[in-house]
Amino acid sequence: MFMNYPQRLRLQGILDSVARANNTAGSIEQKLGDFYASGMDTITIEKRGYEPIRPLLARIDSISDVASLIRFAAREAKASNTSFLAFGVGPDNKNSSLNIAHIYQTGIGLPERDYYFKTDASSIAIQQAYKTYLAKLFKLTGSDTLTAAKDAAIVYNIDKQLASSHRTNIELRDVNANYNKMSVATLVKRQPNIDWQNVLNDLGAKTDSIDVSQPAYYEKLNAALKTVPVSDWKIYVKAYSINNYADVLSKPFVDAAFELNKALTGQAVQKTRGEKMASAVDQSLGEALGQLYVKKYFTEDAKKRTLELVNNLQKALAARIDKLDWMSDSTKQRSKEKLFSMTKKIGYPDKWRDYSNVNIVKGKYFENVVSAAVNNYRFQLAKLNKPVDRSEWFTTPTTVTAYYNPAANEIVFPAAILQTPYFDNNADDALNYGGIGMVIGHEITHAFDDQGAQFDKEGNVKNWWTKDDYTKFKAKTQQVVDLYNKFTVLDTVHVKGAMTVGENAADIGGVAIAYDALK
Ligand SMILES: [Zn+2]
Repeated sequence: MFMNYPQRLRLQGILDSVARANNTAGSIEQKLGDFYASGMDTITIEKRGYEPIRPLLARIDSISDVASLIRFAAREAKASNTSFLAFGVGPDNKNSSLNIAHIYQTGIGLPERDYYFKTDASSIAIQQAYKTYLAKLFKLTGSDTLTAAKDAAIVYNIDKQLASSHRTNIELRDVNANYNKMSVATLVKRQPNIDWQNVLNDLGAKTDSIDVSQPAYYEKLNAALKTVPVSDWKIYVKAYSINNYADVLSKPFVDAAFELNKALTGQAVQKTRGEKMASAVDQSLGEALGQLYVKKYFTEDAKKRTLELVNNLQKALAARIDKLDWMSDSTKQRSKEKLFSMTKKIGYPDKWRDYSNVNIVKGKYFENVVSAAVNNYRFQLAKLNKPVDRSEWFTTPTTVTAYYNPAANEIVFPAAILQTPYFDNNADDALNYGGIGMVIGHEITHAFDDQGAQFDKEGNVKNWWTKDDYTKFKAKTQQVVDLYNKFTVLDTVHVKGAMTVGENAADIGGVAIAYDALK
């Protein structure tokens, strides 16, 4: 998911030229060019300071009780200003052709629960950097130093309460445990303080059932809405709102967010404004930018050659399955059925996303970002309780990445990864099998890693293994976990094999299949 050097220049080149051109109002060129220009217009952005979010802060001030607090959280989620509610629409894991409503654990500012409970020196330094960041956000929006520090402590305390209910990254890998479809009526009864019926109305979601991916989180939230005073919750949603828009506001906000990121990731210097804006355009109008990108940089030849590679890798894996000494013939047959029914998406989507409802104006960077977010929410909501559109892409053509999606049994290779160093249409097979071939093998192997193995060829969570074979498969998976548990990353920090086993298995399989396919 990174942008390498030439890719960044390619995107900035496209955006610089559309930003300068005379575009028809409402065309994707106008939207891309004006969005980019509004993000690059730091004079206007500095002048506006945090004025763009003043109406939002006023809405928080007017929250008076739990009902208005929840209404605020649900309505803001429609513009992707999320805090303690995470709602999404996606395939039903046990009926993969239908999209349903899902809710997930959320409500914490640090990356995952462990950050709040570890007591080693580097974890404490990160906790401190986060509190400093929260205080900074309050100070930048008018609080005095003492109040800002006190409010930061309040936010941190709510975060930590919510984090205590979160599942760990390892627990999140168990697909069945994270599937809890229930009726809205049941949810209403179990969590009366959340008032789910009103939440769903405010989200615009008409549905009788919902997959509560991590129920313990919403039980905790239900309790905390009673035990934490509304005045504290107001401080909490204020912090989340400023944080969500920090990168869209003036430099002091951007720098504050960077300082936290530096503490979390070690990133030494900020990316250039141009690079950040290319990413922002990609995030907000990705399939519009993608259209211009593939026209300029992607060829049908590259698509054909990649498809050939994918086909050869599938054959190589099928031959390896045939040779396994521990798997029964019936499971071998089912593995190969899954392997050959995989959908292959290469380059860019067959039909492009519609951005006609997105309103983009020069000099209004904040409003542009919000307009794109609102449009995206409507797009997601329109899928609720409708059949899954199997042609949809979950990354943009300009992103240097690839993925396997178990819910659709599909592998996806965007145009941006089909370039050097991964792929060169004029290069020798050895280079392409060692580069993109390994990536293809990696993604195909995900269909058979610890998670992928739990999905059938249609993308349903359903056991398709014989009992004996699945027991043997799990023992082999455990060997990979044990192997990676022994690796030390830094000082005394070990790889958590149970968390990384999917990626590790995909790497091991990827190299082996690519090498076989080359031969
Ligand atoms: Zn992977």
